[in-house]
Amino acid sequence: MIQSKGYAARDPKSSLTPISFERRDAGPGDVVVEIAYCGICHSDIHQVRDEWGGSIYPMVPGHEIVGKVTAVGSDVTKFKVGDLAGVGVTVRTCMQCENCKAGAEPYCLKGMVGTYNAKDYDGAVTYGGYSNNIVAPEHYVYSISPKLELAAVAPLLCAGITTWSPLRHWGVGPGKKVGIVGLGGLGHMGLKFAHSLGAETALFTTSPGKEEDARRLGADEVVLSKDKDAMARNKGKFDFILDCVSAPHDLNEYLSLLRLDGTLCQVGLPDEPLPVSAFSLVTNRRSLSGSMIGGMRETQEMLDYCAEKNIVSDIEMTTVDKLDEAYERVVKGDVKYRFVIDMGSLG
Ligand code: NAP
Ligand code: ZN
Repeated sequence: MIQSKGYAARDPKSSLTPISFERRDAGPGDVVVEIAYCGICHSDIHQVRDEWGGSIYPMVPGHEIVGKVTAVGSDVTKFKVGDLAGVGVTVRTCMQCENCKAGAEPYCLKGMVGTYNAKDYDGAVTYGGYSNNIVAPEHYVYSISPKLELAAVAPLLCAGITTWSPLRHWGVGPGKKVGIVGLGGLGHMGLKFAHSLGAETALFTTSPGKEEDARRLGADEVVLSKDKDAMARNKGKFDFILDCVSAPHDLNEYLSLLRLDGTLCQVGLPDEPLPVSAFSLVTNRRSLSGSMIGGMRETQEMLDYCAEKNIVSDIEMTTVDKLDEAYERVVKGDVKYRFVIDMGSLG
């Protein structure tokens, strides 16, 4: 077994504390990564606090992982010791079902195994990236370009692919008017990608103080969602809206912004249902959809696109002893725009 150390939640209410645990030795198809940095996703907080139900404790969160390869199994072909590598939200899928075969692994019919707070197919609980190392099958490990700032690449592994995948799936590009709702970790990557793909991009935010940053990140327009007149002026104008909000909010307000055949895609995962009026959908023949992270091939494509276009996340670096403060600031919507933990701080 490989000895690991990290930070774990023991229950929904207490602070995360140090933990020592074991990971499996690298099998023939596995890659071992020594973790340099791990992003803090709002999903970490939802799961640590058991807001979605079914949390498994102790829980070592973290699914925006970057570092260096320290060992590879005998069947591994993509990586060698010393390479930069990343691990995201998924560490196993069946690879046999139609969705896996189509490169849509998060929708695996047997069920995808999450990087943490999940049970692998053999029953072993998975532990995430708030730790010094991780073992994953090669298929779920990504190549990282040395051209980019490594710490700022970490959030691409979840916030990046979760916004990239729906923007690509719904054909966002020149001639399309796109709205991004919520300027947090996901939202700021959504803005960067929508802008880079050539769409006319608007940010909808509850935070007046984020306007200047939003424009720098790629917004052509910023709308304060609490301003009823501004919302009314935007009715029926959008082809595609990506909703990245982590808390309950009124979807009908955003559906009303869609033009004929427009789509609202929900990626934020509030812990309560979001009521929708049928009138919001039948008007303009609108669609309401959702999207979960992204497939392995498209994640590598996104990382390669970022290397080519020099796109990374805007990060605030933190350390393992300051997780409480980081979590509080994420929940308040006060992070610019993703916390990344320097895993060197584990000691
Ligand atoms: P985050 O950094 O906390 O950003 C969420 C943003 O939502 C905030 O910055 C804020 O933006 C807005 N917001 C927060 N509370 C609000 C409220 N009460 N009303 C309206 N707006 C509010 O979170 P994140 O890491 O980007 O994650 C966002 C959500 O996506 C989480 O629920 C997470 O679990 C989920 N997620 C889903 C997937 C997937 O595969 N679908 C993957 C990763 C994460 P403003 O200040 O601009 O209003
Ligand atoms: Zn995430």
